[in-house]
Amino acid sequence: MKVEALHWVELSQRSLKYNIHSLATLAGPKRTLAVSVKANAYGHGLPEVVSLLTQYPEVDYLTVHSLAEAVACRENGWTKAIMVLGPILLQELDAVLTLNLEPMIFNRQTLAQLGKLGDKAGVPIRTHLKLETGTGRQGITEKELPGFSKIYKKYSSLGAPYGAAMHFANIEDTTNHEYAELQLQRFLNMLKLLQQLGITPQIRHTACSAALILFEKTRFELVRPGIAVYGHWPSKETYLSYYLKGGKNNLFKPVLSWKCRITQIKKLPADSFIGYGCTYRTTSPTRLAVLPVGYFDGYDRGLSNLAYVLINGKRAPIRGRVCMNLMMADITDIPGVKLFDEVVLIGQSGDEEITAEQVAGWAGTINYEILARISPQVPKIVIQ
Ligand SMILES: *Cc1c(COP(=O)(O)O)cnc(C)c1O
Repeated sequence: MKVEALHWVELSQRSLKYNIHSLATLAGPKRTLAVSVKANAYGHGLPEVVSLLTQYPEVDYLTVHSLAEAVACRENGWTKAIMVLGPILLQELDAVLTLNLEPMIFNRQTLAQLGKLGDKAGVPIRTHLKLETGTGRQGITEKELPGFSKIYKKYSSLGAPYGAAMHFANIEDTTNHEYAELQLQRFLNMLKLLQQLGITPQIRHTACSAALILFEKTRFELVRPGIAVYGHWPSKETYLSYYLKGGKNNLFKPVLSWKCRITQIKKLPADSFIGYGCTYRTTSPTRLAVLPVGYFDGYDRGLSNLAYVLINGKRAPIRGRVCMNLMMADITDIPGVKLFDEVVLIGQSGDEEITAEQVAGWAGTINYEILARISPQVPKIVIQ
C-alpha cells in the first residue's frame, strides 16, 4: 500500500490555466490582468500558485494584501509587477523600492515617506491612489484629495499617481447594481477632481471578479480578479446576473480539491456517543472512520454534525464535533471502505462532488472564507 500523504490539497494546473484564459478573454487584449494571490492565494498556497502564474504571459500583475505576501511572491520567482493593496508600516517602506512594489495609497504619512525615500534614491515610485466611493474601508475621501495632491507635487519621485482605484461594496451580494453604479459615478467625479488638481493617473482600476464578469464599464485599464482565478463564482447573485444576460456556466473550473485519508476504522454499537460534548449518539450499530483533519487545518467547527465528505464516490456524514486535529465520518452504508482510503472534503469522488459553495452553505459563510481559511500548513500538490 502506498500512502503519500495523510492530508493534502490538490491544485489542478489545467483548471487554473482555463480560468486565466477565461479572465484574459473577458479583460480583452488591451487591459492588464492583475491576479490576486492574497490570503495565501485564497487558501490554495501562495508559493505554488505564484510559481504556476509565472508561466502565464496573460498575467501581468499580482495583487497582495501585505508586504510579507509581496516578499513571498518575489521569493517564488515573480519578477513582474506587484500591487500591495493593504497597509505597510512606515519603517518598512524601503521594501517598496528594493522589491519594486506598487503600493495602494490611503494615508498621507505613507505617501510622504515614500516620496522622501524615492527622492533620496532618485527612483520613481508607482503608487495607486485608493479612492473612497462608498465601501467605507480603505480609501481617501474627496475632501482629502487636495492634501494628497500637494504631496504628489512635492516629491519628484512620485510624479502623479500611476493608478487610481476603488473597490465595490455591493456588487456580488445582489442582483441590483444601483449602488455599484453610484460608486462608479463617484469614482468618475473624483477622477475629474484629480485632473483639476493636476495629478492625472495613467490607469484606472475598479474591477474585482464580479465587476469584471458583469460590467464592461468597470474594467478600465486594469482588472483585479481574485476568487474567479481559482474557479469560483463570487456569489449565486453574480452567476444569476450573468446567466440572465445570456452567459453560460462554463467560465471557470475549481482549481482546488481538499483530501485526506482514513486513519482509523471502528465499529460502535447503538447508543454510543461520538466526539466532544457527546453531541451525536448512534441509533444503530455504526461503522465510523476517523479523519486526520480538524479546525486547526481550517475545517470549520461549525460543520460539526452538518457536513459530508466523499468516500468511494459516496457521501459520508460528519458525526459529532469537528475536533482540533480530527473528525469522524459515518461509513456504515458505504461498502468496502478500508484503512487509508482517500476522503474528499472538497472536490470530486466518482460521480459525486462537494463544492466549496456547499461547504460554505453548511457552515453559514461564503466560499471565499472556506477556501481562504484552509491552513497554509496543509501540503499542496500540483497535478495536471
Ligand atoms: C480581494 C480584492 C479583489 C479581488 O476580489 P474578488 O472578489 O476575489 O475577485 C479586488 N480588489 C481588492 C481591493 C480586493 O481587496
